[in-house]
Amino acid sequence: MTESPPLLPAPDELTSFFWEAARRRELMIQRCSACGTYQHPPEPVCHSCLSFDLGGAEVSGRGTVYSYTMATQAFHPSFADKLPFCIAVVELDDQPGLKLLTNIVDLQADGVNVGDPVEVCFRALSDAIDLPVFRLVRA
Ligand SMILES: [Zn+2]
Repeated sequence: MTESPPLLPAPDELTSFFWEAARRRELMIQRCSACGTYQHPPEPVCHSCLSFDLGGAEVSGRGTVYSYTMATQAFHPSFADKLPFCIAVVELDDQPGLKLLTNIVDLQADGVNVGDPVEVCFRALSDAIDLPVFRLVRA
């Protein structure tokens, strides 16, 4: 069986700050310079005040599991050796309702629950792309 190349993000003008920060192992989220609201994914205009003055700002990297599912089937061959894996929506602590679609990694047999505290970590997908993912914060 030939190995398929992984599906990789394609950073653009709006998202390059996010991917450049991830390479430095920092989580940056788009923030409005006019009203201070974070929003994700990045957009050309602030959803809160309609300002176009937006930039990237580092966030805590801590949050809670808002929702999740376990993937048990690979819909692309590059995911086949990663099954099962956890696809999750994490709500960041930095602002109510600020959510990120991501993966929860390094799960143990007891799995994951909605409301579990998590922290960001990073997985190298290629020489150029590091992916922000999350792991459970254990007491
Ligand atoms: Zn704003």
